[in-house]
Amino acid sequence: MGSALAALLTARFAWRRRQAPGATPLALLLLSLAVWTLTYALHWLDVPPGAVFWLDATFFGVVGAPVCVWLLTREFTQPDRPMRGLEWLTLLAVPGVTWGLLLLGDPGGVLFGTGPTQDAHTRLAGGPWFRVVVLHGYALIALSALALGQFWLRTSGVYRRQAGVLLAGLCVPWGVNFVSVLGERPFPDFDLTPMLFMVTALVFLWGLLGFRLFDLVPVARHQLVEQLGEGVLVLDGQGRVLDLNASARRLADPALAHPVGHPVTRVFPRRGGDLAAQINGLEGQTELLIDGRSHEVRVSHLRDRAGRSQGQVVVWRDVTRQRQAEAALRRAHQELQARLTEIERLQAELSEQSVRDPLTGLHNRRHLGRALEVLRGQPFSVLLLDIDHFKAVNDSYGHAGGDAVLRAVAGQLAGAVRPGETVCRYGGEEFVVLLPGVGTDAALAWAEGWRQAIAARGVRLGGQRVPVTVSLGLAGAPEHGTDPDRVLLAADGALYAAKEGGRNQCRVAPPPVPEGTSPEAPALECPT
Ligand code: GH3
Ligand code: MG
Ligand code: MG
Repeated sequence: MGSALAALLTARFAWRRRQAPGATPLALLLLSLAVWTLTYALHWLDVPPGAVFWLDATFFGVVGAPVCVWLLTREFTQPDRPMRGLEWLTLLAVPGVTWGLLLLGDPGGVLFGTGPTQDAHTRLAGGPWFRVVVLHGYALIALSALALGQFWLRTSGVYRRQAGVLLAGLCVPWGVNFVSVLGERPFPDFDLTPMLFMVTALVFLWGLLGFRLFDLVPVARHQLVEQLGEGVLVLDGQGRVLDLNASARRLADPALAHPVGHPVTRVFPRRGGDLAAQINGLEGQTELLIDGRSHEVRVSHLRDRAGRSQGQVVVWRDVTRQRQAEAALRRAHQELQARLTEIERLQAELSEQSVRDPLTGLHNRRHLGRALEVLRGQPFSVLLLDIDHFKAVNDSYGHAGGDAVLRAVAGQLAGAVRPGETVCRYGGEEFVVLLPGVGTDAALAWAEGWRQAIAARGVRLGGQRVPVTVSLGLAGAPEHGTDPDRVLLAADGALYAAKEGGRNQCRVAPPPVPEGTSPEAPALECPT
């Protein structure tokens, strides 16, 4: 009676956790055991309507218990594969018929035989259906043990320990019954089976409490692993699939109903073929193209204590959208960079334009200021050139004609200088030539050459030769000072002297007057 009460209480406990896989069959098993032990107790107490009535009634529980054991095993080992119609039929046919026979009062003694009905021993020798019931029960227990054994072999970690507990619980009635068949029964008249099944149920319950077998781990697995967007695949040392979640199953061969236990190459024959080949021997993180989409794949090895690889955990994530976003960002960045370069180019162009004279294309006076600054402290020569009687050119040939003469003289000067030397339009019809590192004597020779060339060539204007002459003033650093502005001023003075001297000539500025001496000294005339 106590056993029945304990079974009922435990059934209620398991029923409360029926959300967890396996808990419902466990509750039903405990209920069957409660019925079994209660009716058996009533049979022994000979409670009316009589011992035989209660003994028959035990069968409601007897046939239910193995069915529940099978359901529990089934739910534990194959949680993703619900039972189908035919399976239910083969499972429930025997208990169904038995319960029917019991309710009909065992017509024709199919269940309990036709012998004397008062004796419990002969009664349980039974009729033909009794043997079917016994066979069915033992077959279900054997199949459960087999399924749990297989599960134990192919899993690892907590699942394996759980399977071990269930298997151990299952072996109790099986083993004791086996021993009692071989040897002496301690209580020949007393059937121990319901008590032994009670032990099984309690061991199962220990699994429930001890491992939190049916609620914690499956919940963790289902919620964390199963619903992960990442594909999770566990392989054993031989590359066989131990476990895979829903995301991983989406890449698996749909023709394979149960991928667990199969080689990874078989589970992912086409799409994951790359996956299977590429994760082989890999450890760490990589990116693979699976089914045309980018996947970030992480492979970690499961190692034993000696550090040997016992299997692999492969986790992958579809990063296609991320990569696309990155590529779009990169493109945007490149476009931005190109625009920036263009802006920089325009800026440079603008800044170049700001130091260029639009009429002649030469550098302008602003540039000259910078160029002179760069030459501060270095030896250089500076030439100031002015077209003679330019106003007359304008008067004779018009402003456009004057412009053409300005461009022609500018072109001749620009063509005459070497790289590193600068020609600027100083303003109006005046030009400046900067000759870094060139001494005054050499500069004078150059200046004279240019003067003669310009004078000899003149400028062609619409088929007409316009005579053009220029006057030049020359100064140099350090002879005429180290301040570039002073040197330029000296050149200007020399130019003035050249004009004064009759034009079409070049003059070198006189050496600067030491402080305290007479300031006026004539500019040197250039030798002709
Ligand atoms: P000098 O021999 O003393 O140098 O006499 P000049 O006539 O050359 O000198 P002046 O300074 O008296 O005249 C310069 C003229 O240059 C005045 C101005 O109209 C002209 N001019 C200045 N800039 C330009 C220009 O960009 N284009 C044209 N066509 N003429 C210009
Ligand atoms: Mg002038
Ligand atoms: Mg002039």
